[in-house]
Amino acid sequence: MKFSSREQIESLAKVKSENFLTTSFFFNSVKNGLNKKEISLQFKNLLNDAKSQIESMNLSKAKKDSLSQDLKQIQALVGKSLNVNHSSGLAVFSCKGEGFWQIFDLPSPPRNRIIFDQNPYVRPLSALLNSHKKYCTLSFDRKEAKWFEVFIGEITLLAELIGDVPSKVKEGGREGYDSKRIERHITTHLHEYLKKIIQKTFTLHKEDPFDGLLVSCPDEYISLFEPLLHPYIKKIFKGYIKINPSQSSANVFKESMLFIEGLVKRDEEKVLHRFVSELEKGGRAVTGVKNTLKCLNRGEAQTLLVTRHFSKGGRICPKCQFLFIDEVRCPSCRIKTDPLLDVIDEAIEKAIDKNCQVEHINPPLSLGRYGKIGALLRYKI
Ligand SMILES: [Zn+2]
Repeated sequence: MKFSSREQIESLAKVKSENFLTTSFFFNSVKNGLNKKEISLQFKNLLNDAKSQIESMNLSKAKKDSLSQDLKQIQALVGKSLNVNHSSGLAVFSCKGEGFWQIFDLPSPPRNRIIFDQNPYVRPLSALLNSHKKYCTLSFDRKEAKWFEVFIGEITLLAELIGDVPSKVKEGGREGYDSKRIERHITTHLHEYLKKIIQKTFTLHKEDPFDGLLVSCPDEYISLFEPLLHPYIKKIFKGYIKINPSQSSANVFKESMLFIEGLVKRDEEKVLHRFVSELEKGGRAVTGVKNTLKCLNRGEAQTLLVTRHFSKGGRICPKCQFLFIDEVRCPSCRIKTDPLLDVIDEAIEKAIDKNCQVEHINPPLSLGRYGKIGALLRYKI
């Protein structure tokens, strides 16, 4: 099943077994220049590490057997799915002892890992959900209005409304008093219709908030529509696109995505510009892995800027969860830290947990001269 909602995470989080552990498996299936053999090898290494982890765990035979069976089932699944690779990533949650098994296709690649725990490990899923913004595309004309949700690579029709605005007075038709009266009649209907559309948009936003609203309507409605917008809706209103309500969902999706990609690029430019100007004046910003991790650990980071697909090994304190590049001992807890394959990925999840915004920087923009990573801070340090 496709992973796309908070509800899926919530129902996973409720899974708990008294007698067995659950296996959570995340796998990046984007080829990124790797061939099938290399991806298979990555999977094999991951699996072997997990097997030796099971052996070293202090568990009953029944618990160990259940985990080993989980791995067997995952191995069979990955063997099959490597040939029909259609999504960016795979997540599997399995507890053989309880007969629990759930597969998700992920819209963007996760970090490869296998985790054994009491519950399904859902943190990578919340991080993934948080990194995607939810948009509403509202398309209307005189006859109908439609609301679509555009979210993690999918489009869903949310609501429809039939319009009752009469068409314009035909040219060469009745003139004078009658024509004016009809015009007034149309304007009243149009005004009521626009108010209904705006009210519905507000209701939908209240039920399940959007991060952005895109609108498509006839040009002559814009000057009437905009002043009626509720202040909350005005805040998330991103601009106009050119579609009409009778177009297919696929078309609405395509046009919406084109607009959204432009928005994302502009946001990236804006945040990078703010970052560079803070650095130039010696203000609220830090650069490089070491300084950025330090500020994230202390909860000082407000926005994390990171080059997309940047990764680096590091360490984590098992007690306070602080992240480091190479501290073998946690300076505050005085205990040994654990190695991490990718401290950047962990930093992104920590940022999301701490309500720090994450901005991925894509080419042609670059953080190359700042050590590929940096942060805007809540206050000057
Ligand atoms: Zn510590």
